[in-house]
Amino acid sequence: MSVKFDRQDLERLKELLCSARRIVMTCHMSPDGDALGSTLAMRSLLKAMGKDARVVTPDEPPRTLRVLPGARQVMAWSSFGQVAESTVNRADLIICMDYNALSRLSRLENVVRNAPAPRVLIDHHKNPEDMAMLTFSYPDMSSTCELTCHLLTAMGWGEYIDNDVATCLLGGIITDTGGFHYNSNSSDLYRVVATLMERGVDKDRLMRCLVDTRSASSMRLEAYALEKKMELFADAHAALITLSRNELNSYEYRKGDTEGLVNRPLEIPGIAYSCYMREEEEYIKISMRSIGDFPVDLLCSRHYGGGGHLNAAGGEFHGTLQEAARIFRENLEENKELISPQTLEYADR
Ligand code: 5GP
Ligand code: MN
Repeated sequence: MSVKFDRQDLERLKELLCSARRIVMTCHMSPDGDALGSTLAMRSLLKAMGKDARVVTPDEPPRTLRVLPGARQVMAWSSFGQVAESTVNRADLIICMDYNALSRLSRLENVVRNAPAPRVLIDHHKNPEDMAMLTFSYPDMSSTCELTCHLLTAMGWGEYIDNDVATCLLGGIITDTGGFHYNSNSSDLYRVVATLMERGVDKDRLMRCLVDTRSASSMRLEAYALEKKMELFADAHAALITLSRNELNSYEYRKGDTEGLVNRPLEIPGIAYSCYMREEEEYIKISMRSIGDFPVDLLCSRHYGGGGHLNAAGGEFHGTLQEAARIFRENLEENKELISPQTLEYADR
């Protein structure tokens, strides 16, 4: 594979992994398929090497991710509390995967920050915080899972990628590319996919479980959101969907039920970016998606204290849903300057 890693960094990573006995993988709160896939892949691989390897997450992963081997063995701080904390504290090595800042760990942040073990960062988000003794940050990669596969191969550990490891890695790639719908134009990605498929991964099952699965109530909620709550700003090439606590409750909303909703307006020709705002208990969860080179990470950091990738970003807004929506609408005119001719052409098809 053609991804170039620093030789010394690779050797250092190998040394750290080989000399550690207890290794803890961590990922961001509300783990998605890439966060869980990458950490579980490392867990599976390291366990096969005889390590005491565990995945500690801030909160419980959604049920839809149970297709990933080892998902039931995840130790969520929200459920295990003290046990999860002592697992992190007793680790010889902590691998931080699929996040670029310790604050993304939510209430697990200080536990990981204060744990005595050295940290390694393996991630594909831009602008990583200086929080690890060794950092593998590759923002051009589709996913942390793709990066992990490149890393393992470059370390000469390709033979340790068995069916379980490969299933986890392909699961993350599928999640972060929306089933190869976006962020998936690099030929290297398909070399990784081929490597994983050679391990006998059931790709069709992963696709069905990770992309084509949802509950009836979540489907109805999406229908409601699109029918009644989608605002289209044709002139600004933007779309906004807001859902209040009451609306969510009336569809028995569960975490993950509106996954993918923010993408739907981008199917409409002319729409370059889309925003979905959901009223949570303590804040307004913001999700944005775009096409072309429209930088939703910039909007999320500028207005909602968040960040992410060029085409997929999010944030937490501490205020009312109305306020968050007002800020979005107020900036539509100014944001027009961020829409390049190429993006427009892409949006128009
Ligand atoms: P989602 O909309 O799926 O929650 O998040 C999309 C992407 O935006 C994630 O991959 C993550 O990188 C980023 N993101 C989401 N929420 C936040 C946030 O609160 N802060 C930051 N910095 N990034 C976020
Ligand atoms: Mn990711």
